[in-house]
Order: sequence, then structure tokens, then C-alpha cells
Amino acid sequence: MTEERRSQKNKNKRKLFWEKIAEANTKRSFICALALAISVSVVLILINTLFLSDSLIHFVLPGAFFAIGCGAFAVLTYMTLAMKAKEYYDAVSFSFIGFLFFYLLYLTFISLKYMDSLALYSIGVLLGAYVIYTTTKQYVVMTIVELIGLSAVSIIAAKTNDPIDFSQVVLVAATHCFSFLLSRDSYTMRTEITRQEFRAKKETEQAERDPLTGLINRRGLEHEIDPIWKVCIRQQDLVGVILIDIDHFKKYNDGFGHVQGDICLKQVASRISMTVGDTGFPSRIGGEEFLVFLYGMPEIQMYELAEKIRSDVEGLRLQHATARNAVVTISLGLDIEVASPEINFTTLYGRADKLLYKAKQIGRNRVICNRKIQGIETSEQ
Ligand code: GH3
Ligand code: MG
Ligand code: MG
Repeated sequence: MTEERRSQKNKNKRKLFWEKIAEANTKRSFICALALAISVSVVLILINTLFLSDSLIHFVLPGAFFAIGCGAFAVLTYMTLAMKAKEYYDAVSFSFIGFLFFYLLYLTFISLKYMDSLALYSIGVLLGAYVIYTTTKQYVVMTIVELIGLSAVSIIAAKTNDPIDFSQVVLVAATHCFSFLLSRDSYTMRTEITRQEFRAKKETEQAERDPLTGLINRRGLEHEIDPIWKVCIRQQDLVGVILIDIDHFKKYNDGFGHVQGDICLKQVASRISMTVGDTGFPSRIGGEEFLVFLYGMPEIQMYELAEKIRSDVEGLRLQHATARNAVVTISLGLDIEVASPEINFTTLYGRADKLLYKAKQIGRNRVICNRKIQGIETSEQ
């Protein structure tokens, strides 16, 4: 792999990672954060309406409230981290951002007389909100930016002879120390949790896919079918199973060898998959057996699709070992039923297997269906 391709691959990986984080429960967490922030603001406004005259109380009480809030968030954060409950952890960290944001905004509001500190607070609020997702490098850059901002504000404040309330600076500093500590843990944990999720997803995908043909296997198929089957029962939709088996495949292997046999399997699988497209679920169910699950289409369409699969595979004109001009063909058993609680996937699979057996007996390279469809020859005839 060239260097360029490797870096592109890493870039894609990183993008996926961040997309994953971005989509994590944002909506629920945002609502939670908003609700919390509004209630905090209401309580603070009430406190200040009651003690409006005392300037100390403007800062001391909200300060205490802030400390209690941060403490509560710290406990919640560590609890959710310890539980590795990513969903709750997301909710807590987003809520903390909301808490920081509205709290600092509120403090800015009540200290509007210190106009110079507005910039300080803005920087604080922005950093407080962002820092939870940063790496150490990003944090260092932001701290430098913040220091520049702080110096600028201090210079302006000194010039106007209106020094910044020291408690505010301490508050902002404390906020940053706290959020940095939180972000370190959360970043490591988030990375770890996301990695674990990726790995688990990949493992599940691998377990549900056939490596040779790339089609889903029996397990993957059942996974896909499960929710659809329930809907089909509710709507009394038609469901269909096409069971496909390559004709005289043992002879193919005997004649051309197993390696060529595998190539043939791949070609047949890919043809089936292309013909089915997104009208059904093609899968490799056994050695040289494939199964296509269909639903919500008229029986004639199901039959026509089965017939098209048969003719398309024949049309590949893959030379067979049985005779000089013989080509690889398939036999198909198609079982169609109205979905109901009395039958399940295994029932249909079993019936399709019997129909397939019949197709083999009659002479192979054909479709046998359990229903009589517009004069087409079926097993019932
Ligand atoms: P029929 O027309 O009655 O289906 O005859 P058949 O020879 O296809 O049926 P049989 O079940 O006797 O043989 C199936 C063969 O498929 C046997 C096995 O060697 C071959 N097979 C199964 N899985 C694979 C695979 O993954 N790769 C290869 N190359 N061959 C496979
Ligand atoms: Mg077979
Ligand atoms: Mg066979």
C-alpha cells in the first residue's frame, strides 16, 4: 500500500470516529442540558432577586451553587465512566457543558458593569464548552489563546481603572482546571468505548458474512429477516424463500479442482446478488447453496425473479466438467406464503428445500414453486 493510500485510509478512519462521537445521543443530551440549564438559571435569578442588595451574595451564593453543581457532575461523570455506560455518560457530559455555558453566561450577565470581563467570560464559556472533546495538544493551544485573551482583558481593565473582580478570574481558572481533568478522563474513556464498539460491530459483521462470496450467511440472514417478518405478519404480506443449489457441483470440483470451484461459487454468488439487487436478501446458506428471502411483492414477481436468477446464472456460460459444452446451472425451490404467526422462516426454508429436491429429481436447471402461477408448472401439478 502506498504512503498516500495509507494516510487516506487513516483519515477516513478518523473521520468515522468523529462522526460516531458526533452522532452519539446528541439530541437527548441536548434536551437534558437545556432543561438543567434553565432550572439552574431560574434558581439563580430567584436567589439574586431575594438578595439583590448584597453584592457579596451575587458571587458567593452563585459560587457555592457552582461548586455544588460541579461536584454533582463530577460524581455523575465518574459513576457513568465506571459503569462504561456510554449513553448516560454522553448525557452527563453534554449536561455539564450546558451547565457551564448558562452559568457563566449568567455570571456575565450579572456582572455587566465589568464590561471588560465579558471577553474573559466569552473565552471561558467557549473553552469550557469545547474542552471536553479535546486532546492534550489542542488543550495547550487553547490555553495559550486563553492566556492571551486574559492578558488583553487585564490590560484593558487596568487602563480603565476598573479592575476585574478577582473571584471571577479564580472561577474561570477553576472551571478550566476542572473541565481539563474531566476532559482527560472522558477523552480516554470515550476513545476506548468507541473503539470497543467498533470492534464489536466489526466482529458481528464478520460473523454474519461469508468471507468467500461476501454474501450474508444464515446467521446474518436471520438477523435481517427478524424485524421484517414481524411487519409482514402485521400487514399479512407475502413472504417467499428461494432456495438455490448448483447442479452437479461435486463433479465440477472433481473435474476442475476446488480452487476453480471456489471461483465458480463466487461468480454464481455475485450473479445472484446482482439479479436480486435490492428487491430481496441473497445469502449463502451452505456449501453450494444460496437462499434469497423476498417479501412484500406479488407472487408472480417472486416467481419471475427466481426464473431470472436461473437464466442469468445459465447465461454466465461457465463451462462445466460434466460434458464438453455443458454450462453451470442451478436448481431452485420457491416457497411463497402469506406471513402469519403459525409459520416462521424455518418452515419456509424446509418447504423450499423439498421443492428444490423436486427440481433436482425432475431434471435440474429449473424453478419449482409451491403455488400455481398463471399456468406455470408447479410442484402441485
Ligand atoms: P446436485 O446437482 O444434486 O446438487 O449435485 P451436487 O454434486 O451439486 O451435490 P452434492 O451435495 O453431492 O455436492 C456438493 C458439492 O459442493 C460437494 C462439495 O465438494 C462442494 N462444495 C461445497 N462447498 C464448497 C466450497 O466452499 N468450495 C468448493 N470448491 N466446493 C464446495
Ligand atoms: Mg447441495
Ligand atoms: Mg448441488
